[in-house]
Amino acid sequence: MSGSGHVVDTPRIAYFSMEIALRDDLPTYAGGLGVLAGDTVRAAADLGLPMVAVTLLHRAGYFFQTLNSEGGQTEAPAQWNPADSLDELPTRATVTVEGRPVVVRAWRNVTTGTTGQEVPVLLLDTDLPENAPWDRTLTHYLYGGDAHYRLCQEVVLGMGGVRILRALGHTGIARFHMNEGHAALLTLELITERMRSEGRTAPDMTDIHAVRPYCVFTTHTAVPAGHDRYPMDLVARVLGPRGEFDMKDVFCCEGELNMTFLALNLSSYVNGVAKKHGEVSNHLFAHYVIDSITNGVHAATWASPPFAALFDTHIPGWREDSFSLRYALGIPRKEVWNAHQQAKSALMRQVNQLTNVGFSTEQLTLGFARRMTPYKRPDLLFWDLPRLAAIGRAAGGLQVVFAGKAHPADRDGKEIIRRIFGAAEALKNTVRVVFLPNYDMELGRLLTAGVDVWLNTPQPPLEASGTSGMKAAVNGVPSLSILDGWWIEGCIDGVTGWAIGSNGRNHTMGEAPDHAADADHLYTRLENDVAPLFTDGQQHFTDIMRHTIALNASFFNTQRMLQQYVLKAYF
Ligand SMILES: *Cc1c(COP(=O)(O)O)cnc(C)c1O
Repeated sequence: MSGSGHVVDTPRIAYFSMEIALRDDLPTYAGGLGVLAGDTVRAAADLGLPMVAVTLLHRAGYFFQTLNSEGGQTEAPAQWNPADSLDELPTRATVTVEGRPVVVRAWRNVTTGTTGQEVPVLLLDTDLPENAPWDRTLTHYLYGGDAHYRLCQEVVLGMGGVRILRALGHTGIARFHMNEGHAALLTLELITERMRSEGRTAPDMTDIHAVRPYCVFTTHTAVPAGHDRYPMDLVARVLGPRGEFDMKDVFCCEGELNMTFLALNLSSYVNGVAKKHGEVSNHLFAHYVIDSITNGVHAATWASPPFAALFDTHIPGWREDSFSLRYALGIPRKEVWNAHQQAKSALMRQVNQLTNVGFSTEQLTLGFARRMTPYKRPDLLFWDLPRLAAIGRAAGGLQVVFAGKAHPADRDGKEIIRRIFGAAEALKNTVRVVFLPNYDMELGRLLTAGVDVWLNTPQPPLEASGTSGMKAAVNGVPSLSILDGWWIEGCIDGVTGWAIGSNGRNHTMGEAPDHAADADHLYTRLENDVAPLFTDGQQHFTDIMRHTIALNASFFNTQRMLQQYVLKAYF
């Protein structure tokens, strides 16, 4: 089948995610969760896994960000036309929302793996003339609207998703994988199917036991507010009367429906997304057994053109087998350095074109891009401006590139962007700082490959995994990062990058963060380790680059991640 393409017509795994980053030009994702989902689908295609993925269309996209000269963010809908890049399927399904029938259609994207195998992704859409005007908007806004809107969306994703799969004839699905709790209502649909097949009109415990083996749940957040919860009166209004909610132990707690608990209660396998996050989740949800499978990135998606060419020359087969990036140790230093200089030049051109700030390829350049929100502490680098300026002067110049969106409702996140603009202005003559607007996959690829060091300063233990540092690793870019999430596993100090803070302190939930100590350590590492290494010349720096690829890109990728899901969760 290789070459002609082959869509599996009997998928065994249905992967549900509120957002999936399918392609650079489709605004169907907001951030890390969606990029991970996209990288998962791409790896599933590489491995030839019999997977089908389900998500919502997000016709209005995740927003287009513009920033004014003070760093004030405004949001506009990201315009796109699904018919330009997706196939509309004739199949329809219907869900009931507040007693109204809502018709759901699906658009199909097909992701092709390295050996020609294909994984279909179904993007659900309620914008059909037969639906009421408000129902037509249910698949427009990703993470928009109020709790009522979100719950109705989750009916479309979870219940509508299962019904569309059945309408397409997919009866052989052995695992329903919920990528975060947004899709947890699929469990109710599976219970209804089972109850009906047994000729009953009320669910009982045998349905729960029968459904559980089909369900897999991956939790992604260590921030309690990140878990969707809905008041039971809202749930009753949207879903109508359901026998499940009389089974209090399984379905509701304290007058609300918590999507995380729903997914936990109905799944036979549950995991967090890094070892540390697994531990944190076991504390948050003490009555459950939560395993961990550490996230990854899809190497071929995140390798910049110069590194992809380098790997094609020295590690043929790296696209089919990410483990083979281990052999990056044998790539001549000079070639690694040249590839990095090319990736850096590409970023510098973009920065200078967009901002006219005059970045130089000669200077040590740090990168930071992620959602702008307080616990990620994007402005920790600016804790002590005179000290940072002194470090910059001693290093013979320092440049920093930022990017990231704040959720439209996150006032504190928006304030952080303004503070970064303020710091950039204050440092103008010593450290050059730019903030590039509208962070997306394309900019992410340019940034993670084009800087010298990737910075991450979250407040531990709140970073579940983090994946942008893994993209940097594919391009040989070491991380300077707080020990949290994946970096606890990925950091070999002085070999693959540098740690800020000590993991020995073993952060627990609720422990007061010590921003001053973390900032102080960040400066110390920059001053004593990162800057000297960089000014020291290519030799040692390219050693670090090769170790970063060989040790981290070979492991923190979605091919390895999916193989672990296959072993532990799927079959
Ligand atoms: C990789 C990526 C993210 C997630 O990065 P983190 O390190 O997990 O914060 C978010 N947005 C975009 C556009 C990305 O490419």
